[in-house]
Amino acid sequence: MKNKFPVTEIFDSIDGEGKRTGLMATFVRFAGCNLRCSYCDTAYSLREEDAEEWLTEEELLRRIRAYPWKRVTLTGGEPLLQPLASLCGTLGREGFECNIETNGAVPMMETRPEGLFYTMDWKCPDSGMEGRMCADNFPRLEARDVVKFVVGSGRDLCAMERVVRRWFMKPGAPRLYVSPVFGRIEPRRLVEFVRDHALAEVTVQVQLHKVIWPPDMRGV
Ligand code: SF4
Repeated sequence: MKNKFPVTEIFDSIDGEGKRTGLMATFVRFAGCNLRCSYCDTAYSLREEDAEEWLTEEELLRRIRAYPWKRVTLTGGEPLLQPLASLCGTLGREGFECNIETNGAVPMMETRPEGLFYTMDWKCPDSGMEGRMCADNFPRLEARDVVKFVVGSGRDLCAMERVVRRWFMKPGAPRLYVSPVFGRIEPRRLVEFVRDHALAEVTVQVQLHKVIWPPDMRGV
């Protein structure tokens, strides 16, 4: 549908991962994703046909403004498949801080609207999607951004270390987070790996919403 965004759900909750973990935000989940990760937990939002509603930019803005939070998390699916520059520009001018959760397989926006940061995945081998990662995005990442590795095995942890050492051991690098694929690897193995490999800049996290609510619960 032209000029409309495919939206699966809009809700408010805490950010479950990344640098705003635990802080309330308004979430917009877009339908449609260009990847098919082995551990995907949003199978209900992978195709545009999964959209519950199609909203214009103005309708989306109205819905976001109706919540009391000045933080917005745009997620999916893959939000960067949508033309977000104008939406994010307006939100930024109105004082919102926008977090775009992107899968790392789509180019980031050419110019960065005010108040925007990215939480970008780097997909490790167990996802089956490592070959789709877009390293061209790396030079555009700033200290306010986050790169997130979701790991399911020792092989994934080694891949994470390779990427961190090659690209991100320098001043001004984005923040680095590693979290376990839920149910596939013990979180303590991440701590041990980070300790044993002296990865001082890597933050270990668990997805908070999966601890607080049933892991497959929607709208939280
Ligand atoms: S990028 Fe995210 S939404 Fe897309 S398949 Fe992977 S886990 Fe699912």
